[in-house]
Amino acid sequence: MIDLRSDTVTMPSREMLETALWARLGDDGRRRADRTGGDPTVDRLEQLAADLTGKEDALFFPTGTMANTAALSSACGPGDRVLIDPLLHMYVSEKVAFHPQFLRLEPVFYRLDGDHMPDVADIRDKLEQTGAKMICVENTHNFSGGSCTTPQRLAEVAEAAHQRGALVHMDGARLFNAATALGVEARELCRPVDTVMFCLSKGLGAPAGSLLCGGAERIAACREQRKLLGGGMRQSGVLAAPGIHALEHNRQRLAEDHDNARAFAQAVAAAVKSVRVVEPRTNIVLLDLAESGIDGKVFSARLEERGVLAHLVPGHVRLTFHLGISREDAMEAARAVIETAEGGAHGTGGV
Ligand SMILES: *Cc1c(COP(=O)(O)O)cnc(C)c1O
Repeated sequence: MIDLRSDTVTMPSREMLETALWARLGDDGRRRADRTGGDPTVDRLEQLAADLTGKEDALFFPTGTMANTAALSSACGPGDRVLIDPLLHMYVSEKVAFHPQFLRLEPVFYRLDGDHMPDVADIRDKLEQTGAKMICVENTHNFSGGSCTTPQRLAEVAEAAHQRGALVHMDGARLFNAATALGVEARELCRPVDTVMFCLSKGLGAPAGSLLCGGAERIAACREQRKLLGGGMRQSGVLAAPGIHALEHNRQRLAEDHDNARAFAQAVAAAVKSVRVVEPRTNIVLLDLAESGIDGKVFSARLEERGVLAHLVPGHVRLTFHLGISREDAMEAARAVIETAEGGAHGTGGV
């Protein structure tokens, strides 16, 4: 199977796993304010993350969802308004921040422009109208096909927010994909925002974990939230060590995934007219089936019969390229998509 459901399916290498065997460990729950007494490997990962994002401090979380939630809950409470776009992962997929049983934040929607970047004029209006306490941006933007927001646009968003005393949180689950595609350092993307989350468990290929980075005071507040959310861990250096390995070895190669996504998209677009291929910016390709008349579920079931796994997102079939996918796999997946689309064009019935 060529598994393009997500870059979360990436497997840790043996070399990566072996780092866990030799990692110096401790009880991260007993870490003191002077950074001693905890898990030294987690501490090393947190310092590396702070350095890569240009922030004062960082905090290791088991998941990105928990890190995003702590960023919000450290600054907002039930009923507070938060500016988001309607396709934000935190809203569409994670839900917990807006869930009536959990954080109960009030979403206020801002528009994305034609390039899927936050529309600053709309954000200014919404801030003025609603007094929102926080703005969330996602970079890369998952459900619009891995599109990127530039440092300039982030600076404009942050300026609008900070003028009104609002904070900016960036969900950078794929921060390093954005930096790679834009040809900038990750810290340039992070400079305007107050907090940023990135995942080790996506294209970087680590088994688990996400980092939340920001100013020292914000991160101290988020550390308390992490404990409340049940995210305090003990010898979590066994997860942090593979995370360090991932950051040191797998950041540079993300460009290969972007090249594979582009080659795949070009092959499909050249061969099929009934399926619209959204031109990839990073490692995610979206297929728009509206004109083909084939239902997304039917399409992905037929694709699976041809050995390719895809994922359905709002309005599209999504294929994600990652370190488990070679150029040959990408081209084989393109052939499978072309055959599936052509099968559909001949008007065959259900699966
Ligand atoms: C994967 C992802 C997250 C968080 O993921 P977890 O599965 O909780 O680690 C957050 N935002 C985006 C855009 C993601 O793709």
